Order: sequence, then C-alpha cells, then structure tokens
Amino acid sequence: MAKDEGRSCVRVFSPVIERRSFERLVLEAGLRGALERDELVLHYQPKRRIATGDISGVEALVRWRHPALGLVSPARFVPLAEETGLIVPIGRWVLATACAQAVAWQRQGLAPLRVAVNLSPRQFADETLLADIEAALAGSGLPPDLLELEITESMVVENLGHTLPLLTALRERGVHLAIDDFGTGYSSMALVKQFPVDTIKIDRSFIRDVLSNPEDTAIAEAVLALGKALDLTIVAEGVETAAQEAFLRERGCDEMQGYLFSRPLPPDEMAAFVTDYELSRLKVLAAGQEGT
Ligand code: C2E
Ligand code: MG
Ligand code: MG
Ligand code: MG
Repeated sequence: MAKDEGRSCVRVFSPVIERRSFERLVLEAGLRGALERDELVLHYQPKRRIATGDISGVEALVRWRHPALGLVSPARFVPLAEETGLIVPIGRWVLATACAQAVAWQRQGLAPLRVAVNLSPRQFADETLLADIEAALAGSGLPPDLLELEITESMVVENLGHTLPLLTALRERGVHLAIDDFGTGYSSMALVKQFPVDTIKIDRSFIRDVLSNPEDTAIAEAVLALGKALDLTIVAEGVETAAQEAFLRERGCDEMQGYLFSRPLPPDEMAAFVTDYELSRLKVLAAGQEGT
C-alpha cells in the first residue's frame, strides 16, 4: 500500500509535469512585467467576403515576444493571464493598440478596416470594461462602427444580468458584436436570440473536416441556415483549403478567415498585404475590361 502510494507520488512528479509547472512559473513571473517591458505585440488576420472578395476586416491576435522563449502564442499565456487577472490590463492594452492601429492604417492611406478584438471572461466581469472601450475609441478617434468585439458563449452565459445591459449599450453605441468559436459552448441557440449580435464565427474545429465528416457538415450547414434565418453575418474560421472555401461559398457563407487567405501578420506586413491584394484585384478588373 505504502509502496503503491510511493510509486504514484513518483509519477506525480514525473519530468513532464515538472517541466510543465516550471514553464508555467517562468511564464507567470515574466507575464507580470511583459506589458511594461513592451513585450506584447498584436498580429492581424484579415477576413474576406466570399461573394465579392472584399476584405471585410481584421482580427487582432496577441503574441508575447518572450526574451528567452521567442514568440509565445496566446494559447499558452492567455489562460494564465485569465487566472491571474493580468488579462484585465493586457486586454485594455489590446483594445487601445488595435483601435490606434486601425486609425494608423487609414492615415497611411488604406481604406477603413474594421478591427475585431477578443475579450476574455475575466475582462467581461470587470467593471472597467465599458470605460476601457470608450477610452480606446476616444483615444484613437476610431469610429465605434469600426470596432468589433469577439465574445464567447461561456462569458455571456455566466452573468446574464450584467452582460445583457453591457452588450446592449455597446451595440447602441455602434460597436459590432461577434460570437466567437460558435458551436463549442452549450447554449448557442439561446444566445443568438437574447443578444444583439451581428456576427457568428463557426469554430475552426467544425471547418477542418467539414468535407469528410458528416457531423461537421451538418453542423456547418445548420449554423449557416440559422445565420440566414436571423440575418446574421456568418464567418468561417480556420479555412485552409480551396475545397473548404468552395463548400462554404455554395452554401452562402458570408466571410472566411484562415491560412488559405492569410496567416495573422504584423501591422506593416498586414498593410502591405492589403495594398498588394487590392492592386491585384484592380489588375484583374482592368484585364477583364480590356477583354470586352
Ligand atoms: P480565436 O479568437 O478563435 O482566434 C483564431 C485562432 O485560429 C488564432 O490563433 C489564429 O491564428 C488561428 N487560425 C486562423 N486561421 C487558421 C487556420 O487556417 N488554421 C489554423 N490551424 N489556425 C488558424 P491564435 O492567434 O494562436 O489565438 C488563439 C486564441 O487565443 C484565440 O482564438 C483567442 O481565443 C485567444 N486570443 C488571441 N488574442 C487574444 C486577445 O487579445 N485577448 C484574448 N482575451 N484572447 C485572445
Ligand atoms: Mg477570435
Ligand atoms: Mg475564433
Ligand atoms: Mg476558434
């Protein structure tokens, strides 16, 4: 018995787990000062309207330029920031930076691009969120209509009495609202009925095998039908192949986002991407007119 317990203790402190908690310690210690040391950066991923080819906007995605670990993905530190509460100041920085970037691109001569910012549950529960959003808009001069907030099902369900008035106030202000990772939560349908959302993003996990897995096909088709019936914009996440895009086009999906169109890019590369893309479309248009 004692021997068994001894063995399971040894298992608990296996090198893998030890390494993981060590990494966690390193990340947590570093994350506290990451904002002040200017180590966080935003990359931006464009979304494309499937029917017209227009770029409909970009999503801001945070990364951490860690001095020793290199570029750390949000999957590794956002949950940690969420647990420690650091997501509140980090989220405030993301909002302000994304709004300022959208205005900066316009000053550089790009057409206005709507910028989407991910919110986390902890931020949503924080009383300063509305003030933070107002400050980001006022500080940058970005029109509210060019800001979109991506929320997940779990964060709105948790405290309906608080979130419904907040989301309604934001919507009345002209800010766009999107439900992110749609279909992965437990009350998707109730949400679209109760909340003033504009957009639903079909989670990448349903798009990956949408052509080969009958369940994923059925779910994607059901979300697209729901979007049509309720007059919502439907965005497919994680589109990586032309075949996936064709499937979505045939079924009237409004927008796509994914590596097929572009990976998330640093701000300068994003501006160059948009300029090149618009130029190539103009060339195609001009060639078409010459032909007729
Ligand atoms: P998300 O909001 O669902 O963002 C989409 C994720 O899918 C991004 O990962 C993006 O890089 C990735 N992605 C896009 N297209 C493709 C594709 O074609 N194939 C594959 N395999 N992946 C694709 P990323 O940037 O690592 O972000 C992960 C998650 O971290 C985000 O999921 C979001 O929940 C969270 N996150 C990112 N930035 C922020 C932030 O500023 N604040 C908060 N609270 N969460 C954030
Ligand atoms: Mg998102
Ligand atoms: Mg998403
Ligand atoms: Mg997702």
